[in-house]
Amino acid sequence: MKGNINVKTENIFPIIKKFLYSDHEIFLREIVSNAVDATQKLKTLSSLGQSKGELGGLTIDVIIDKDAKTLTVKDRGIGMSEEEVEKYINQIAFSGAEEFVEKFKGKSELETNQLIGHFGLGFYSSFMVSKEVEFKTKSHTDAPAVRWWCDGNTEYTIDPTEKTDRGTEIIMHLSDDSLEFLEENKILELLKKYCKFMPIPIRFGEETFWEDSETEKDKDGNPKREQKTRQRIINNTEPLWKRKPAELTDEDYLNFYRELYPMNFEEPLFHIHLNVDYPFNLTGILYFPKVKKNIDPNRDKIQLYCNQVFVTDSVEGVVPDYMMLLRGVLDSPDIPLNVSRSYLQSDANVKKISSHITKKVADKLDELYKNKREDYEKKWDDLKVFIEYGMLSDEKFYEKAEKIFLFKNINNEMFSIEDYRNKIEPLQTDKDKKVVYLYSNDVDGQYAYIQSAKDKGYDVLLMDGILDNHFVNQLEQKLKDCRFARIDSDVIDKLIPKDEVIPSKLSEKEIESLKSLVEGQVDKVKFTVQMESLSESEAPLTITQNEFMRRMKEMSEMGGGGMMSFYGDMPESYNLVVNTNHPIMSEVLNNTDTDKQTQIISQLKDLALLSQGLLKGEALNSFIQRSIGIIK
Ligand code: ADP
Repeated sequence: MKGNINVKTENIFPIIKKFLYSDHEIFLREIVSNAVDATQKLKTLSSLGQSKGELGGLTIDVIIDKDAKTLTVKDRGIGMSEEEVEKYINQIAFSGAEEFVEKFKGKSELETNQLIGHFGLGFYSSFMVSKEVEFKTKSHTDAPAVRWWCDGNTEYTIDPTEKTDRGTEIIMHLSDDSLEFLEENKILELLKKYCKFMPIPIRFGEETFWEDSETEKDKDGNPKREQKTRQRIINNTEPLWKRKPAELTDEDYLNFYRELYPMNFEEPLFHIHLNVDYPFNLTGILYFPKVKKNIDPNRDKIQLYCNQVFVTDSVEGVVPDYMMLLRGVLDSPDIPLNVSRSYLQSDANVKKISSHITKKVADKLDELYKNKREDYEKKWDDLKVFIEYGMLSDEKFYEKAEKIFLFKNINNEMFSIEDYRNKIEPLQTDKDKKVVYLYSNDVDGQYAYIQSAKDKGYDVLLMDGILDNHFVNQLEQKLKDCRFARIDSDVIDKLIPKDEVIPSKLSEKEIESLKSLVEGQVDKVKFTVQMESLSESEAPLTITQNEFMRRMKEMSEMGGGGMMSFYGDMPESYNLVVNTNHPIMSEVLNNTDTDKQTQIISQLKDLALLSQGLLKGEALNSFIQRSIGIIK
């Protein structure tokens, strides 16, 4: 019998083909997941006593026939009667496909490609790769088997056929430009990508394996190993996230991580098993990887599944940005997959899921902090970037994480935010009643400054992470009455200014002439000369860099936009602080040999630059020459 597929306007097959050209591999997921659905329906009916026959083997077969140029997907599921084919394939499924084409008409190729993965085109997606599609199906009821055939025109044929076993066999006659789907490796790759955790076993091709022989021994008396072949099952029908956490060991979670990311050899720090059934449905396992400094969010991403069918590994919009640093799987039938990403972000379910995940992650960190503090501290370096990123970008997360954030000082001691404040408050409060948090981002490079701070009994934090600049800004806003100062942002006597004033040994006139002497030796664009009355024991000349300006400049270099780029364009600027109380300064002033005066000033200035790593090229060379001259 021939019939016409219910068509409104035109033949949609060429359109399906054209529109979906770059992502046509999706067809395999669609056809195999239909087979899975049909098999699960049968299992359900059978368990309800509504399907009488034997269940038998339910494995789905994917078969390549290179000679016939066909790719076949065969299930032993529920099957269809002629009426059902008429209803589900010729009418309902087709109108779905038609709607799809309407939706994507006029969209750019780029937009289409971004959306296509989320749209289940279903059975008709087989026409993306086939010139003709045929299927034979036998219902689990007594209805006779039928064969449906369509060559990509709007006309189809449906006939009675010889098929004795229950189920559906979809035979795709591949078009000439899709013959790549006759390659075993290609199909294997696609099955591994989309079907790896589908709930019904899927059989494809053969694989070889080694087995100990039962009878034959080698010369040492050990069983001989023999190579054998067996049919290959490509999927794990009971993935870990569907199982009960109580039944699982840490080893199970680790093995599953390796199964998900076979090319990743680093072990995750810990995992979170998600299992929610109200008010939405969500299962999954999230892993915390070691983040450290090299964040690559494009590697080993979180995978999103819908009832064990792979959907995408672009989870933007489903989880907050900083959560994308995590790995693992999320599985939810409640995430709308057939819509665009911008819609995803405004979807109420997605929002709930997102905030649930945030809460779970924060709870897990909290639990580790409270119950396994030692372990938590050990993992801190790897957790820090993630936690800072979360605290910077999500107010709710900040509130939770504030209690579990750790400050680490340059002696590798760790403190909670509260404990640290109590520790430093007595000594590190300035005359304006602000607690000053001192930090270093380079312990070796800032050695001299750190030493001076230690001599005063101050504590110095280590803040060398990629987000620390931004994070320090945020802490200044969140924590009351405090400010952060990098250890080289001022001379030690002024880093935490106190009320007492150190009297100056030089007169104002002397200070003036010393100042012009120094100014004569430096590049005025780069350096501002600053005369200060400091303790005698402090260095005669010191280079400092204003905390605010430096931070702005660094943040703008990381990309800030707006005012930020204004700071980014500013030249580097430093303060050259002259300690007017240092004994050498009076000596310089009293020296009547002007050449000697400039030589001393230059030498002191270069030493200050050298200690900051700022003396380079020609300047460094002339410093060395001058020094040799002095020694001679
Ligand atoms: P969807 O799967 O989203 O419903 P499809 O176009 O993929 O849309 O399929 C339409 C309908 O055709 C299915 O709902 C199902 O009733 C029927 N169908 C498709 N494939 C099979 C199959 N392998 N076995 C039984 N029925 C099937």
